[in-house]
Amino acid sequence: MKILVIGGGPAGATAARLLANDFDVTLIQDKKWEKPCGGGVKKRIFDEFSLDKSLIKHLFDKVYMVYKNEKIEIPLKGKNLAIVKRDEFDSYLRDLAVKEGAKLIYGKFKDFENKKAVIKINNEKLLFDYDILIAADGVNSSVRKALNLPGIPKTITHYAKTSSYKTDTCEFFFDKELGGEYYGWAFPHKDLTHIGSVDAKSFKNLCKYLNVKEKPRGYFIPTWKENITIQKGNVYFVGDAAAQVMPMTFEGIYYAMKSAKILADSIKKGLNYEQEWNKKYLKIFKQKKLIETIHKTFLRHVMIKLHKFNFMKNFSVSLWLDNA
Ligand SMILES: Cc1cc2nc3c(=O)[nH]c(=O)nc-3n(C[C@H](O)[C@H](O)[C@H](O)COP(=O)(O)OP(=O)(O)OC[C@H]3O[C@@H](n4cnc5c(N)ncnc54)[C@H](O)[C@@H]3O)c2cc1C
Repeated sequence: MKILVIGGGPAGATAARLLANDFDVTLIQDKKWEKPCGGGVKKRIFDEFSLDKSLIKHLFDKVYMVYKNEKIEIPLKGKNLAIVKRDEFDSYLRDLAVKEGAKLIYGKFKDFENKKAVIKINNEKLLFDYDILIAADGVNSSVRKALNLPGIPKTITHYAKTSSYKTDTCEFFFDKELGGEYYGWAFPHKDLTHIGSVDAKSFKNLCKYLNVKEKPRGYFIPTWKENITIQKGNVYFVGDAAAQVMPMTFEGIYYAMKSAKILADSIKKGLNYEQEWNKKYLKIFKQKKLIETIHKTFLRHVMIKLHKFNFMKNFSVSLWLDNA
């Protein structure tokens, strides 16, 4: 059976890796680049997917919540949060897929023609046939557009790298002026700190707050909701192309890879992908969506202030790092 995977980010590269032993898998990636990202992942991803731990740039045993000029330390029950560099991480995942037997081709999916995928490689348009196509082409999925499916719900984020602000762990800024409807963030990387917030205004305020002058790049991130189409006939969507980003925390890397595993297992065992995904994740995604909704109301203030107490710190950390 021929499987064509469009997009070689965490979702597509993982799906290709897990399927390449059993099927004839081709992985199409449009370019080598560093996806705008904080690069924060649960450390357990390294054991769950047998990944090389030398990809970990930092490990943290705490994070900070910043609100009304107060910094609340949240212990993570051990060094459970890792930082990766996305260009290195994504290309490593694609290499793993190739080691398992997938063919990696640099080209861009354009459209469908006579039930084949049109891929532009250099300046040539080639037709690829397939029995199954996996769309892992990110938040602006061209496959979704080509199939006339509604785009996935998303929000803009503004993001920059800076040398003017240093922090020893990940910081989350919850004042509305700094984080808009969600939160602002600063994650330490090797030399630079990656910072971001939602809308342009809150990003500007965050820069002022951190005493940083940076021009942001805008990039979309999915805002998951129930009942998004993740399969149409023999085309399956995974990762950002299926909006599988955890509400409230906006963790996408882990869930892109875990969803790719659910998809690969479903294909191998002839199971229904959507049902399998719902079994594993629907409940927790709905819970976090509810928390996200509460966070947008006046109750945000109460929710954040409660994090001064250990029971609330433990509850949030368990929900974030232990669950699902
Ligand atoms: C500013 C920002 C910060 C973030 N920070 C974090 C974080 O700290 N931790 C976290 O877990 N998540 C974070 N995320 C979310 C995370 O980046 C995504 O959820 C994750 O990358 C999803 O993986 P994916 O493989 O589904 O999609 P992507 O990583 O977007 O990969 C899709 C790949 O497909 C390629 N592609 C696209 N179109 C085509 C085409 N037509 N043909 C061929 N290839 C194509 C793209 O070049 C891309 O490499 C952040 C997102 C943003 C925007």
